[in-house]
Amino acid sequence: MLSTKTKKIVIIGAGIIGASIAYFLSLRSHNNVVVLERETPGSGASGHSFAWVNAFGKDPRDYHTLNRRSLDMWYRMEHHLDTDIGIHYGGEMRWENTKEGALQLQQRIRKLQGWGYPCQLISRDEMLELEPGINPGNVESASYSNADIHVETDKFISACFTRTQASGTDIYTQSSVIDFEIQNDKIVAVKTEDNEFTCDIVVLANGTDMTKLASLVDIHIPQQFSPGIIIKSTSCDTVLENIAILHAPSNDEYKQHIHLRQLYDGSLRIGQGTQEGINRDDSQQHADVLLSCAKAFLPAIGNASAIATPMGYRPMPLDGFPIIGYTESLPNMYVALMHSGVTLAPLIGEMSTMEIMDDVRIDWFEPYRLDRFN
Ligand SMILES: Cc1cc2nc3c(=O)[nH]c(=O)nc-3n(C[C@H](O)[C@H](O)[C@H](O)COP(=O)(O)OP(=O)(O)OC[C@H]3O[C@@H](n4cnc5c(N)ncnc54)[C@H](O)[C@@H]3O)c2cc1C
Repeated sequence: MLSTKTKKIVIIGAGIIGASIAYFLSLRSHNNVVVLERETPGSGASGHSFAWVNAFGKDPRDYHTLNRRSLDMWYRMEHHLDTDIGIHYGGEMRWENTKEGALQLQQRIRKLQGWGYPCQLISRDEMLELEPGINPGNVESASYSNADIHVETDKFISACFTRTQASGTDIYTQSSVIDFEIQNDKIVAVKTEDNEFTCDIVVLANGTDMTKLASLVDIHIPQQFSPGIIIKSTSCDTVLENIAILHAPSNDEYKQHIHLRQLYDGSLRIGQGTQEGINRDDSQQHADVLLSCAKAFLPAIGNASAIATPMGYRPMPLDGFPIIGYTESLPNMYVALMHSGVTLAPLIGEMSTMEIMDDVRIDWFEPYRLDRFN
């Protein structure tokens, strides 16, 4: 029998989930890993993400805890990778300008505090102490969540792959997986258009395309369609002095909440509605409206202009919760599909590696197995 360390592992997809799993495998001195990516690392959902790392809106309690554990792991990731992985510390601040919105926020904060999530309601004055440059208008209620961060996914993915390549992992870009070879109810080879990779274990980390790929081997991965858009801006002065993420309420000009973060190059990322909200309007006009709405709250944005960005597609299991683990019908096929994959990447990378290398079942993952859809 092969030892786990000599098993050939093929990871399909070089987004944040594939990158994190590859990284944790490399920490176990596993140098028999191949990553196959259809385009370039991070070109899927990970490159279109708002990348807010949090457990704020995550229900029920088990799912909140899963996200919280991963959020806390990001600090360890930065320490271990010991390079710039694009983390922005400072927490998340939000406010509501209607009585109804205020009540909902107060209830949410009480629930999260009961779960031990570091957050609190704050006054208008405290908001302005945290972010003196903000122009919030009417504030019915406001909150601050201390532990939340955001991440520049391209930097994290690149740091993971730099490490894994140094440990002997081969990464093939522009290599789309198109088929599998099966013998005795196991996958023995993964096929791209011009190559074939023999394998002992296959990890599907290919996001929205997983449903189509898994259907080739008669495995059904139920997903919903979830397009979203995060617009960009040209760079501007620092608009958030202390916090990392801002959520602002709707106003007369724009009828949805907006969320905003700033990268180290000074550019902004702005999204609308909730983290799961559907949005298909990738026009320049829509990008201009979003930025102008943000400028009303943050005058320091100044003359920065909006850059319309193509739609991104969230990997979104049918019930909204992750799908993780080996499949029943093909016991050497491991799947990792989820929304909130930026938040969850460290935890999924580390725990999936244990499941793969040590042949254990992690009980935190039990609610998230594929067979719940049977
Ligand atoms: C608009 C938007 C906002 C979001 N906001 C947040 C947020 O604030 N916080 C958060 O935690 N999450 C957020 N998410 C979700 C998060 O971005 C995703 O859950 C995460 O990026 C998923 O990573 P992944 O590696 O599974 O998938 P992906 O990044 O999509 O990577 C999959 C990769 O597989 C490749 N691939 C596909 N098919 C094949 C094939 N046949 N062969 C080879 N390669 C293949 C693709 O090219 C792609 O690079 C958001 C997503 C979107 C779109």
